[in-house]
Amino acid sequence: MSKKIIAGNWKQNGTLKSSISLTKKVLQAVKKEKYTHEIVIIPPSIFLLPVKDLIHKSKIKLGAQNVSAFNDGAYTGEISGSMLKDSGVDYCLVGHSERRHIINEDESDFSSKVSRLIDNDIKVIYCFGETLNDYKNKKTKLIIKRQLKKLFLNNKNNLKKHPSKLILAYEPVWAIGTGLVPSPEELVSIFKYIRDTVNNLDKKYASIKLLYGGSVTPDNASSLMDTEHIDGLLIGGASLIAKKFIDICSTI
Ligand code: PEP
Repeated sequence: MSKKIIAGNWKQNGTLKSSISLTKKVLQAVKKEKYTHEIVIIPPSIFLLPVKDLIHKSKIKLGAQNVSAFNDGAYTGEISGSMLKDSGVDYCLVGHSERRHIINEDESDFSSKVSRLIDNDIKVIYCFGETLNDYKNKKTKLIIKRQLKKLFLNNKNNLKKHPSKLILAYEPVWAIGTGLVPSPEELVSIFKYIRDTVNNLDKKYASIKLLYGGSVTPDNASSLMDTEHIDGLLIGGASLIAKKFIDICSTI
């Protein structure tokens, strides 16, 4: 059976010391509990290497929060896909709502980043989801369809060749960091819609995993994971607190 994924996005938080301490606590739990799911920790780029040093002999996978849209060269401040690969990165986020709405990245940036990552054999966790306004105007499915169509159209060749390099994370923007979560009925309907939309694009895409992200806590993790078509969770705030992240990993 294919593994569920629990990924913790630390965003731009923490110090070297706190990142090491958090990693050690997660590491201890992973060794003790022998989770069958894939645990991914996603620290700020500057802490990737020290974190990798701690987890390199364990089952924990390393994720990056961002990648340059360009190959190596004169792009001051950027970190390329090959540098991430060289540093032991297994996964990378693309399309996170904070990159869309605060950094103003668009589909063309995402498409270049997806290519750079697949070229370097790094799995893409592609985030998408509607804003509060779209949700209130009942446009959730319309927005999801638009975002997914663009992703699959812009990266058609790469994704058809390497469908297993893509993981999709549905993260309603209004649920990120707010304590709000879609109702169980909404989630059932949305995830069925995402699964059908993806499968209808090409049957090769049927094995692409679907994650949910947005205000996941130890209290709601297990019911979220019981939702049909949810193959894992992307966790922000709760992944910064070792006990909460470990409790989430343990409850599912
Ligand atoms: C996120 O930013 O990807 C996220 C899901 O955040 P939170 O869990 O804090 O809502």
